[in-house]
Amino acid sequence: MLELDAIDSFYGEAHILRSVTLSVARGEVVALVGRNGAGKTTTLKTAMGLVRPRKGRVTFAGHDITGLAPWRAARLGLGYVPEERRIFKDLTVAENLEVGRKAGADDAEGWSAERLYALFPNLAERRGQKGGRLSGGEQQMLTLARTLMGNPSMLLLDEPSEGIAPVIVEAMAEALLTLKRAGLAVLLSEQNLGFARTIADRVVLLETGTVRFDGDFAAIDADPAILSRYLAV
Ligand code: ATP
Repeated sequence: MLELDAIDSFYGEAHILRSVTLSVARGEVVALVGRNGAGKTTTLKTAMGLVRPRKGRVTFAGHDITGLAPWRAARLGLGYVPEERRIFKDLTVAENLEVGRKAGADDAEGWSAERLYALFPNLAERRGQKGGRLSGGEQQMLTLARTLMGNPSMLLLDEPSEGIAPVIVEAMAEALLTLKRAGLAVLLSEQNLGFARTIADRVVLLETGTVRFDGDFAAIDADPAILSRYLAV
């Protein structure tokens, strides 16, 4: 579904990603893990077209999307949920969802606000409240829910569990599992390996912009030194 092939990305002259290769299959959930500054966000941004790679290729759903504008990737079905919450604070939860709806979208197919309220009961309870009144975790959920209104076939999720209350982390994990069962592919960046383990099929470990490990949790458990070497655990 998504393939990054030998990607090199820079910020100015700072060389951040070094020959990063990874793939996510249809319906697969892959966790991108690594310390602060390892290059997780840059990898997601490069996949989405927010950072243009200097080398390598990004393929999504059979299309070469290297260097394409993010809205083109979005049209092809790639959804991006940044770490910083992007909601309209003065609009209600319901209005925020409406903003995410694709023009001409048919509620009979794909996501509607009602289906998203079933997925995120916290949002259902607060549908009439202004976005700015929600907790950080609920704003994170709303950002995700709004992205789903565009009916993506794959999500790029930047640290969905970062800085949110444990009960919301649990609700988030449950929602992501439901999305996975519905066949959505996900690439999520995560520092919390416990969270990653509950939802991901596979782990890609980054260190200073280089892929150091790509495999399943069984392989990590068989060689725990992988974690102590590359993660702050
Ligand atoms: P974090 O968990 O802190 O978000 P990360 O693994 O997502 O870490 P990135 O955000 O991809 O890491 O950052 C990788 C490196 O690029 C870091 O050294 C960071 O300081 C640097 N960097 C990030 N954004 C920029 C930018 N806009 N300009 C210059 N350097 C940047």
